[in-house]
Amino acid sequence: MALLALEKVKNKMYLILLGAPGAGKGTQAAFVSKEFGLAHIASGDLFRKNLLLGTELGLLAKTYMDKGSLVPNNITIDMILERIAEPDCAIGFALDGFPRNIEQAEALDKALAKQGKGINKVLYIKVSDEEVLSRLSGRWICQDCQTPYHEVNEPPKIAGKCDRCSGNLYQRDDDKPDTIKNRLTEYYKQTQPLINYYGKMGKLKEIIGDQSSEKVSDALKEALTD
Ligand code: AMP
Repeated sequence: MALLALEKVKNKMYLILLGAPGAGKGTQAAFVSKEFGLAHIASGDLFRKNLLLGTELGLLAKTYMDKGSLVPNNITIDMILERIAEPDCAIGFALDGFPRNIEQAEALDKALAKQGKGINKVLYIKVSDEEVLSRLSGRWICQDCQTPYHEVNEPPKIAGKCDRCSGNLYQRDDDKPDTIKNRLTEYYKQTQPLINYYGKMGKLKEIIGDQSSEKVSDALKEALTD
């Protein structure tokens, strides 16, 4: 299936998944990456990985993540530009959680343009605030493979264990009600202007996110193969 989809897409794809926290960017970025053979780059996962390793970058990022604030642009942009320069990104990538504001988007455009590349499509997964709150407050994540679960909508087969790799599930510190509120405020203030930014470029594709994960995946696949 992945090969079939890949054949339809003749050129390399440089994609962005855009949407509020909890919109399903992580799940869907994993899906499109697998389907189209792209590197999946999640800025939040990169920060969390650094934190787990106890790097200076991880410890600094944590002070912002715990509050639900954005990590400063200079740090985030450097981290992502370094990551997209790695060999696995040559075939294409799906960015998840980056860019989150106009300055980051402009830095990305500039870096890609230098290599004669550009973002092909921005997939905007639109969900309501109520849905976001319900999804984030019940979210559990595998600490090993990052697969997300929901205690009501998508529970694991064995409580506390990942269906895929048996890793332990945990709730993110920043999925607490007060932090969720702050993350949403940041999203509306800083990230939402990107809808207009990419819309004006004719790159934005809006997908309804208030539906099953399978239906969102189908809509994304259609958007990428039409
Ligand atoms: P996420 O896993 O995408 O929900 O991100 C978790 C947290 O990591 C965010 O609340 C921010 O503190 C930080 N973060 C992730 N991506 C970015 C970004 N592009 N710019 C700034 N901070 C980010």
